[in-house]
Amino acid sequence: MKRSSLEILFVILNVAAFVLIQAAAAPQEKQSPIHIAVATFSHETCTFCPDQTTVADWEYYGPPTRDILRGSSGYIGGFKRMCEEYGGVELVGIISPRDSRGGSSGSWLTQESFDKYSSLIVADLRQAGHLDGVFLALHGAMAVTGIPRPEGELVRRVRAAVGKTPIMVTLDLHANEDQALADQADAVFIIKRYPHYDAGLAGETAARVMIKTIHGRYKPVMAVRKPGIITPSVFQGTGTSPAMQIMERARIWENENPDAYVSVAFGFAYADVPDAGAVVMVVANNDKKLAERIADDMSDFIWRLRKEFAGKILPKTKEGIALAIKAVRDGRRPVVLADHSDRTGGSTYILEELIQQDASNFCITTLRDEKALEAIAGKKAGDAVSLRLGGYSDEFAGNAVPLEAKIDFLGNLGRDPIAVLHFGKNNRVILTPQLMQVTDTRIFDQLGIKLEELDIIVLKSRVHFRRGYADTGIAGAIIEVDAPGWGPADLSTLPYKNIPKNLYPLYRKD
Ligand SMILES: [Zn+2]
Repeated sequence: MKRSSLEILFVILNVAAFVLIQAAAAPQEKQSPIHIAVATFSHETCTFCPDQTTVADWEYYGPPTRDILRGSSGYIGGFKRMCEEYGGVELVGIISPRDSRGGSSGSWLTQESFDKYSSLIVADLRQAGHLDGVFLALHGAMAVTGIPRPEGELVRRVRAAVGKTPIMVTLDLHANEDQALADQADAVFIIKRYPHYDAGLAGETAARVMIKTIHGRYKPVMAVRKPGIITPSVFQGTGTSPAMQIMERARIWENENPDAYVSVAFGFAYADVPDAGAVVMVVANNDKKLAERIADDMSDFIWRLRKEFAGKILPKTKEGIALAIKAVRDGRRPVVLADHSDRTGGSTYILEELIQQDASNFCITTLRDEKALEAIAGKKAGDAVSLRLGGYSDEFAGNAVPLEAKIDFLGNLGRDPIAVLHFGKNNRVILTPQLMQVTDTRIFDQLGIKLEELDIIVLKSRVHFRRGYADTGIAGAIIEVDAPGWGPADLSTLPYKNIPKNLYPLYRKD
């Protein structure tokens, strides 16, 4: 049967209406390529440490740079990788400061330095032309004189420059944050592992959600909770419970709800700031109720684990060294001693006690002593030296230790001088001009030290050393030693002024 022209017209109209309805309902795909700006401004501030972090510290390794998209590691590497996988994304490197000298052994950032780099980032974003999104790779534990919540303030300034453009942030698990950051950023993603194996993964997640959001397929909403707990870094390793249980629960929520991103930061207890303590941050796709429900559950769960999380007791110096010597005798070598409380790097309690207890084949990896390095600058390997080492990097750094030693190595590592002194019963101390957290064993090769000769390795690290020593099976035994320092396991010894007055275990006892 032939169709009448009226019927044909009817069909055409129907098809046209269908196409129009589909177009209205479909996500608003942006024209390719989309443009996403990337910037970083990252610091973990030990506000109890003595030396403030200035512009000069920020520019020690060079001036701010736009060249931040190079490399494939970390948050930005992961972000880049996911953007390449999706295709149709052009990343715009925004001028950003490099790492600061001394890293987290640095105290309060000067407001001048914060304003300087925030302004540089904001000005560069304004110059960047059309942007569909802004990705900020931050840390979350920055402390700035006169600015109570620096990451929130940075994002507020960026927001003023880019308007409604989505802004997404990645943070370290040691972040101190609260609602203020979530009020400014569209989405926040935090790593789940300490040691921080998953910075790249957090970057990938941020990129995936950013791209979906730009194309109108995702509408981020956030819920934030503060469980009311503060814990020292040394208890936060995610290779053991309760930190492991907490992150496992976050992953279960994510598995059940593939559109939800469940983050927990355990916080950085050595920054005396008003948003200190653990935080839960949940991102969900246009489902505020779901975000709130997950955030409540995670916060309650962390609160229930508070006693296990905050209450471990660690051996003090004398007891810790005795345990190490016994472990060597038991054949569990090398024994790794984590000198976790030394935040500035020049503390000598463990060196002094090892000598006192007549230990042999140990290596202090490393001791910060820029003055000793200056004193031996003109010498060479093989020379004998008589020095007094360390004990001045902060008021808890202990006594200067007198040492008759031979120089085994004197040279440079990167732009910093480094030396190996050999003394006593085949013992060594590696000297660096600033705190160096050694997280793997490469340094021994670089400095000509045979790892198999070492019975005891002393590291100025809390948990990150586990990456190279525990998770690789190298350490025969690990002993965390609670020597005096600005990074103690017992937080009640710290002179806090600014942290919330409801935190367990400092202000609430049960
Ligand atoms: Zn961290």
